[in-house]
Amino acid sequence: MKILLVEDDEALADGLSRSLSGWGFDITLAATGAYADTALRTQLFDLVILDLGLPDTDGRELVRMLRARKSTVPVLILTARDGLDDRVSGLELGADDYMIKPFELRELEARIKALWRRGHGGFGHDIVVGRLVLDVRHREVRVGGERMMLPSREYGVLEALLLQAGQVVSKDHIAQRLAVRSEELADNAIEVYVHRLRKRLDALSIRIRTVRGLGYLLEHSADE
Ligand code: CA
Repeated sequence: MKILLVEDDEALADGLSRSLSGWGFDITLAATGAYADTALRTQLFDLVILDLGLPDTDGRELVRMLRARKSTVPVLILTARDGLDDRVSGLELGADDYMIKPFELRELEARIKALWRRGHGGFGHDIVVGRLVLDVRHREVRVGGERMMLPSREYGVLEALLLQAGQVVSKDHIAQRLAVRSEELADNAIEVYVHRLRKRLDALSIRIRTVRGLGYLLEHSADE
């Protein structure tokens, strides 16, 4: 699960990103609104944790821009401000939840889980397709309880497909999830990863169908 943590207080950002990584989340840290905005325009995240008081931007402006782009990524606001107005306007702009600093880490973890469940139809941390299980929180795929060892890019492609199993996932969407700063994917890279994944998944009766012009669809054949 990829989380963008937007927080300019260095000590808090360090502590939070250490805790969140420890829980198995993949954390990208942004200390300014400009950096966060670039990250949000070039990568896909499963959750944004957002401080409202940033040095260059009001965090609410980031929420407003996100929603104006029709992004549905859940946003959890962290704020030291105790003015009711800030919280209300953050929620009105499309944030999903908020926490007032200081807060308990346990409470943060519970909120993250709740937002995740809300966004993924109650699947909690596992997405199951046939014998394949995606443990979202620990970012691993298992088959019959055994971890499937995958190179990170192949894992990224499979994760993108599993998170939207049964729906067509565009190449752009996959590329955005894989995007690593200052690194570009070769044109046919995703096709190569899909080809390798198909070989691995064949024995599980799970197919990755190419939907011409649209993308890929992961499905489990009904006969198993
Ligand atoms: Ca701040």
